[in-house]
Amino acid sequence: MLIDTHAHLEMREFNDDRDEVIKRAREAGVEYIITVGTTVESTRDAVMLADKYDFIYAAVGIHPHETKDILHPAYDIIKHFAQHKKVVAYGEIGLDYYYEHSQRNIQQRKFRDMLQEARKLELPVIIHDRDAHEDTLRILKEEWDPAIGGVMHCFSGDVEYAKQVMDLGFHISIAGPVTFPKAQALRDVVKQVPIEQMLIETDSPYLTPQPFRGKRNEPAYVRYTAEEVAKVKGLSFEDVARITSFNAMQLFGIGEVPKKGMITYPIRNSLYLNVTNRCTSACTFCVRYFSDFVKGHYLRLRDEPSAEDLLREIGDPKRFDEIVFCGYGEPTLRLDVIKAVAAEVKKKGGRVRIDTNGHGNLIHKRNILPELKGLVDAVSVSLNAQNAELYEKLSQPKFGAAAYEAVKEFIREATRYIPEVTATVVSAPGVDIEACRRIAEELGARYRVREYNVVG
Ligand code: SF4
Repeated sequence: MLIDTHAHLEMREFNDDRDEVIKRAREAGVEYIITVGTTVESTRDAVMLADKYDFIYAAVGIHPHETKDILHPAYDIIKHFAQHKKVVAYGEIGLDYYYEHSQRNIQQRKFRDMLQEARKLELPVIIHDRDAHEDTLRILKEEWDPAIGGVMHCFSGDVEYAKQVMDLGFHISIAGPVTFPKAQALRDVVKQVPIEQMLIETDSPYLTPQPFRGKRNEPAYVRYTAEEVAKVKGLSFEDVARITSFNAMQLFGIGEVPKKGMITYPIRNSLYLNVTNRCTSACTFCVRYFSDFVKGHYLRLRDEPSAEDLLREIGDPKRFDEIVFCGYGEPTLRLDVIKAVAAEVKKKGGRVRIDTNGHGNLIHKRNILPELKGLVDAVSVSLNAQNAELYEKLSQPKFGAAAYEAVKEFIREATRYIPEVTATVVSAPGVDIEACRRIAEELGARYRVREYNVVG
């Protein structure tokens, strides 16, 4: 599923073949389209289009180019259209200093007015900020409520700007220019921005991606942007489609998000196994405390799966690069299931990895690592900190102060039985990345730093 979160299907460029354009989008896997008003008239047309098609939603607003002549009653008309059940956002609004069809002070005043209108309506905002990042940021800080959220449409800033607007509750929307050969700066931003805060869009009829650059853009081409984002982030096309669609559904309240806990779920070309939601830690950064989803997959389990359930879903493990016991709970709590599933996967020629907090020996009160010999190819163990004090603070282990040394011992022991052992840390505040690297080396393990607030 793909969602084009920003198109202008109501514009006259589509007057001759609008229905065919919409049909092509559906055939290309575009599940929903948000068509975005830029004037009072186009807002009306966007809402009418949303009224006609189940899968089209509308945004209401006045583009900064058009703000010069608008008077206060225009806001009342926009407010009237905003009552329509298919309206999911207020936009596009903002500032544009590239053409400056309206003076800067007029643009800024009207931008503030419309942010206040959107806030009263509790609608997410779609922001246009060409060549006006500094003023946009200042006004958003003064006027916007991060709890309502919004999107920086066709993002054109740098990584620092992206971080600042994300802190204000905004998503970063990537459009066709990411496919242009000279757009390395934008691809660098894509690399750094968490996919969990990213949307994709066409801005059609504008900003046509490669390979159709120079022609009219249309929603079906959003897939080229998704493909480029996947390439840059080292994800699969399906991952980007699923995660950005999930993000859009959450932000704009559209579609039905699946709510059945998945016991297996693909990320890149690995298959992850969700064997339990229980854990012997309560890490301060754990995704379970702020989301039921990882990379667009719903992981809150009602019942824990059996080995048979898991094997049925895995099928032929050679379809995947690896089968991973992970991480929305502590998998070694279900050691018997790990052993039974891993044995079958190995028998069928698959590769097995476990992501663990390293409490397995504490949980089972014995050394479990010899039992995993020959069944597990790789293990990633959360070292998390350079000393016991910080470990206890960050991971809040059920086993108390003794847990840190036990985790280190687990890593050292793992290197005797498992071919590939990696100690991981999350770049959380207070973590000394280099000190942890030295500890990993002393224990004979590889080392990996995971980004704070990035999961999966
Ligand atoms: S060990 Fe993993 S699953 Fe458990 S609380 Fe920490 S981050 Fe969450």
